[in-house]
Amino acid sequence: MKKVLIIGAGGVGQVVTHKCAQVPEVFGSIMLASRTKSKCDAIAAQISRPIETAQVVADNGPELVALLNSYKPDLVINVALPYQDLTIMDACLETGVHYLDTANYEPKDEAKFEYKWQWAYQERFREKGLMALLGSGFDPGATNVFCAHAQKHHFDEIHQLDILDCNAGDHGQPFATNFNPEINIREVTARGRYWERGEWVETDPLSWSMHYDLPEGMGRKKFYLLYHEELESLSRNLKGLKRARFWMTFSDNYLKHLEVLGNVGMTRIDPVPYNGCEIVPIQFLKALLPDPSSLGPLTKGKTCIGCLMRGVKNGKGRTVFVYNICDHEEAYREVKSQAISFTTGVPAMIGGLLMLTGEWSGKGVFNMEQLDPDPFMDRMNRHGLPWSEIITEEK
Ligand code: NDP
Repeated sequence: MKKVLIIGAGGVGQVVTHKCAQVPEVFGSIMLASRTKSKCDAIAAQISRPIETAQVVADNGPELVALLNSYKPDLVINVALPYQDLTIMDACLETGVHYLDTANYEPKDEAKFEYKWQWAYQERFREKGLMALLGSGFDPGATNVFCAHAQKHHFDEIHQLDILDCNAGDHGQPFATNFNPEINIREVTARGRYWERGEWVETDPLSWSMHYDLPEGMGRKKFYLLYHEELESLSRNLKGLKRARFWMTFSDNYLKHLEVLGNVGMTRIDPVPYNGCEIVPIQFLKALLPDPSSLGPLTKGKTCIGCLMRGVKNGKGRTVFVYNICDHEEAYREVKSQAISFTTGVPAMIGGLLMLTGEWSGKGVFNMEQLDPDPFMDRMNRHGLPWSEIITEEK
């Protein structure tokens, strides 16, 4: 019987807990731990299987180690915030537990995410015979697996990669983010960056856009270029890659609010003195905005996230688009969360499942595209994220 400890009782943690509970033959025992225990208890109460809950401050190493030593999980699924990645990895190393997360480490005082901090754990995980799986959400996560699938089945070489992330859902709120507002706004307001011929090219935030016609009636959408973490590992691991970019849709309303908030300093991440104390504007803004988990019952519409790849097979050019479409209302009916948390939580459960069954195994730190995509793609179809692909041969 395998035991999993899920850390973080937010929107994603809720989905991961529901989805792990649906696979009792793999996840024999489940504990959900987070900073606020009442949130863990509220999630546990939605699920018919018993879910253990605990309080833990995941920045506190000794507290984490004590929890891991008492529960003795086989795997930790970290869906707290990126700031906690390293303390949780340290605790896993100390207690001999496999590790999985959905977002790479980010220092709190600098809006900068990079794999270098977590890749530096490679030797320590290898020496202990442990596996750390990085970025097992949707993007990063399923998008990396889509690339590995295309590389394995459709291409000799992939030359161009465009990751397209469209949320065509509407929650009816003037301004809200679909996942943690602080993490979301830091990502969107950062300078854009893409990879071309071995170099990173920087762009001003949200200054590049393009239109793309999405399939299955989703229609023509406007996408903005952003830097996203999977570009860093994919640019290393995909054979023959010449260019890799990431694009996301935003409503005009979202962009208008973000511009005003940025202009007045509300998206700043540095402390500002106020009435004898210090406040970090983006953290204060988070306290004012709707909790992403409250958007679940309100959100209608669909997401479409996929990888558009151009390359060669047997000397001929071809384009392949591998994608998933997810319906916000269907996701809410199943796990009481909207599609953004759903599309992140399901791949986290699948990555954990493949680690626990041994279908994915290894010693060290891994990005998703380094593992066999087939069992993951198969599980996506079985656990609520069916994918499709469109292959266009060049004449
Ligand atoms: P939420 O803010 O909804 O949830 C985060 C949870 O972590 C909260 O329950 C919070 O506790 C808890 N937490 C925060 N800090 C600590 C701490 N120090 N110790 C213990 N628990 C803590 O975020 P989401 O669920 O939306 O996102 C979770 C993760 O998923 C993030 O890392 C995010 O970047 C990632 N993500 C990845 C995506 C992908 O596709 N790869 C897409 C979307 C998100 P409290 O309730 O007390 O605040």
